[in-house]
Amino acid sequence: MEKISVIVSCYNEEQALPLFYEEMERVRKQDFDGIAEFEYIFVNDGSKDNTLKEIKELREKDKKVRYISFSRNFGKEAAMLAGLEASEGDYVTLMDADLQDPPSLLRQMYNAIKEEGYDCVGTRRVTRKGEPPIRSFFARMFYKIINKMSSIEMVDGARDYRLMKRKVVDAIISLKEYNRYSKGLFSFVGFDTKWIEYENVERVAGETKWSFWKLFKYAIEGITAFSTTPLILSSLIGIIFCILSFVAIIFIIVRTLVNGDPTAGWPSLVCIIVFVSGVQLFSIGIIGQYLSKTYLEVKNRPIYIIKETEKDNL
Ligand code: UDP
Ligand code: MG
Repeated sequence: MEKISVIVSCYNEEQALPLFYEEMERVRKQDFDGIAEFEYIFVNDGSKDNTLKEIKELREKDKKVRYISFSRNFGKEAAMLAGLEASEGDYVTLMDADLQDPPSLLRQMYNAIKEEGYDCVGTRRVTRKGEPPIRSFFARMFYKIINKMSSIEMVDGARDYRLMKRKVVDAIISLKEYNRYSKGLFSFVGFDTKWIEYENVERVAGETKWSFWKLFKYAIEGITAFSTTPLILSSLIGIIFCILSFVAIIFIIVRTLVNGDPTAGWPSLVCIIVFVSGVQLFSIGIIGQYLSKTYLEVKNRPIYIIKETEKDNL
């Protein structure tokens, strides 16, 4: 029988975990009985609550449950990679612990691969119900901007929730970069992907780990990882300013020859200096972003560090 690996990244999810497990088991029994085997890989991303204890309890009563526990919080991207690397299934799915990625869609996704011949099925939220409007606004802006800048297509509203064939998983794992931006990595590897749309579901318990600031940094991560357009942009702004200043110089020389030299225009001069130094700092900032990412890649540090897995407590 074929095996499906379910990878669940968990950071402070003690409340959501039992609910997730219950729902997942219900779906498995209802939709996959006699069709596929399962393994559940819970990746504990350095939780500060009793998440690991909850996972171990699940493991006690169900040997389908496997787990990986990190030495500290490495972030969801690292957790997903660890899960993918540990997975043994012919098909692999990535899910959140808060049931915002409904397990009930799994059968439909599985069918798309089995019957329609796709390699990979992704999910997309068509509404952002229950999310602060300002957050939705910035999210939309981000997708508009990044799709203009990058040759890789990022789908607006795409979740990390997806079902993949083994070869897609192997392709993802082969990308060893440190600054991981999954939405980009999934597009980068290609393969035939079907998108399933669904309405946003609110999390069952606990609270979101994404503050606005964290999302902002994640957005910058996405842009620097998949586009070098900002670098071109800063050169372009530089060139435009050179041309402008050249025109201004000619204008001033001509004016001085015609009118003599009345000393005026100091305030405007100061404004121009402040403005141009702002543009310079902004450009240096952009270069700095790329440089810092390069620095992190060059150091070649591990993406995550494992403290224990189910194999430590057989
Ligand atoms: N998560 C994680 N590490 C982190 C932050 C989050 O593994 O550092 C997990 C979290 O436990 C959840 C999933 O990533 O299963 C999505 O997080 P969350 O629900 O907070 O994000 P949202 O759905 O609000 O975007
Ligand atoms: Mg969530």
